[in-house]
Amino acid sequence: MNYGIDIWGGNNFFIENGKLKVNFGNQPALIDIIKEIEERGFQGPILLRFPHLIRKQINSLYSAFNKAIKEFNYKGKFHAVFPLKVNQFPTFVKPLIKIANKFNYGLEAGSKAELILAMAYNNKNAPITINGFKDKDMIRLAFIAGFMGYDVTITIEGLNELNSIIEVSKEYEKIPVNIGIRIRLHTSGVGIWAKSGGIESKFGLSSTEIIEAIDILKKEKMLDKLKMIHFHIGSQINDISPLKKAIRESGNIYADLRKMGAKNLSAINIGGGLAIEYSQWEEKRDKNYSIEEFSNDVVYLLKEISQKKEVPMPDIFTESGRFIASPSTILIAPVIELFSQEYHEKNLKLKDKNPDLVEELYDLYKTINENNYIEYFHDALDHFESLLTLFDLGIIDLIDRSNSEILVNLMIKKAITYATLKGFKNKDLKSINEKIQEKYLANFSIFQSLPDFWGLGQRFPIMPLTKLNITPTRSATIWDITCDSDGEIPFSKEYPLYLHDVDLEKEDYYLGFFLVGAYQEILGMKHNLFSYTNEAIINFDIEGNYEIEFLEPTQKIREILIDLDYDIDEIERLLKNKLEIINDEEERKEILGELFLLLNDMIYLKND
Ligand code: PLP
Repeated sequence: MNYGIDIWGGNNFFIENGKLKVNFGNQPALIDIIKEIEERGFQGPILLRFPHLIRKQINSLYSAFNKAIKEFNYKGKFHAVFPLKVNQFPTFVKPLIKIANKFNYGLEAGSKAELILAMAYNNKNAPITINGFKDKDMIRLAFIAGFMGYDVTITIEGLNELNSIIEVSKEYEKIPVNIGIRIRLHTSGVGIWAKSGGIESKFGLSSTEIIEAIDILKKEKMLDKLKMIHFHIGSQINDISPLKKAIRESGNIYADLRKMGAKNLSAINIGGGLAIEYSQWEEKRDKNYSIEEFSNDVVYLLKEISQKKEVPMPDIFTESGRFIASPSTILIAPVIELFSQEYHEKNLKLKDKNPDLVEELYDLYKTINENNYIEYFHDALDHFESLLTLFDLGIIDLIDRSNSEILVNLMIKKAITYATLKGFKNKDLKSINEKIQEKYLANFSIFQSLPDFWGLGQRFPIMPLTKLNITPTRSATIWDITCDSDGEIPFSKEYPLYLHDVDLEKEDYYLGFFLVGAYQEILGMKHNLFSYTNEAIINFDIEGNYEIEFLEPTQKIREILIDLDYDIDEIERLLKNKLEIINDEEERKEILGELFLLLNDMIYLKND
């Protein structure tokens, strides 16, 4: 009933009086925030961002490493940068930059555009690391960032990049950047994002190439610029052991390079990969370590290697992004239809004389109770089978068939409710509930808002915002509003999700999709032309009251067409011409006006 909130929730939310509440400030219920936003005229899916949860994650990263450094009497320092690829949206980046100042937390850029963002927004003395493949213009941008006074490290992914840095350095009088080398470890991570590490990885220099890089730097008298070695064994490392191996491997490379004369080499950048617990199920945890274990292992192992090889303990850099960004963002989508609602008693069209089996079904439905529900449920299924055969033989008609469908579905609902109250002791009922799920149509697009679920099967915690004091009885499949059968989170016995039986004519029902702050928005697709959702930043003032600091509506139809490079004037002209067949001028004008209003409508559905 608590949707595993104690597993994935990080104590950020709690349930009270059936509502899901934010465990911060005056502890508002998420449903109350949504209602306030709706009152301001915003409908449809909404992304809520909570900057206090960004702060919490940054704080816990720095605290864990600094504590380990103190405990092990480690001589190097801890630094961190946020990899912009994880979330480049201003509604995330700008609050992050504000929080980062206190920690001297910097930014990592993997492309020219990300680098421009880092140059514009990074705090004054905070580091910038630059990864990814680079051309000379990107290296020139890095130099300009260096001239701005930032502490810049360009990490080379291959020897050609080193040659480009050398060529660009000749264009300037000074070299205002440090050089890093991404090393190709033989260790790789585990899980669906493990491809960034390992000997077959797309990135980094092999040992032979590293030695060649050192020779080139020596020849160019630039070895003093080599400051950092870097690796990244993949995102969401769910097992700690590959990380330990990677630390040993990189620690030894660091020590050997120092011995080869790289006297300013003073940092190891361990990349990202720190995992998030996405699981809602105790038996299916997504990671086997805590942030404390992670930081202790890194610090302890680097100390051990440095002492053994008699080199100074290196500074430690991390580029963890998922860990920092995921918890801060929640997608909330209104449920707009439950498909069993068409199986409602009011839709029965019973005749004066019904076929005997329909009469019997009706009788069973009227008299089913908590003592007889298993037997009656079995009888109902038998009757239903027979009724379908009678329909195929042309003996009963479509109205009889519809009545049977409604009655059987209503009986299943009743039987499931009784069975839930008794803890699902009957196997048959449990498996029927798993087979006959309720379909919850939610106003959002999985392609836009949960692309990692669509592409990689990554699960995100899902739970309703209300009714949390009532046992959910319906095995749930969630459908999005795209016209694509992939736009579905199917019920799975392995990851069962149960939701409530609600009458949407009488009450609203919203689903929250949690931990969606990393990668989802930028990877999101405009499939079916559904694009960004509504978005809000929720802050807390010093008294602890929440305030909606920023509210941005989802795109309008005309805006998404412009985004695709359509000429909107041409579209408007074409639409107008097509209405010319209406002879009555008044009528034509009226319909044209309506059409133009609809062109400015939002892309998601309205709560009609
Ligand atoms: N650093 C590099 C080089 C990366 O490629 C990535 C992402 O894959 C990250 C950092 C961030 O990783 P994560 O979000 O798992 O912390």
